[in-house]
Amino acid sequence: MVPKSDWRRTGQEKYLSEIELRYIDRYAPFSEIWEHEHCSFCQTKISAYDGDLHSGYCSTDEQQRHWVCSMCFHDFKDEFKWRAGG
Ligand SMILES: [Zn+2]
Repeated sequence: MVPKSDWRRTGQEKYLSEIELRYIDRYAPFSEIWEHEHCSFCQTKISAYDGDLHSGYCSTDEQQRHWVCSMCFHDFKDEFKWRAGG
């Protein structure tokens, strides 16, 4: 369990609790101007560029995409009760 005082917490339980997250092992840019994402917890950049993470977990809601990096997924998955999609 991650402490309540963890710096990565910014109220994510309001929109990330018990949702489905899909593992993306190779990030593909959404468009030319939308070519990266940030982890909803630690803000680490996820993109196709060198030096950034290339994989992560993505919510399945098309209107409001949220990304979680692998490390934060591991840390918070039990608390947020995420379901792993296919
Ligand atoms: Zn993270």
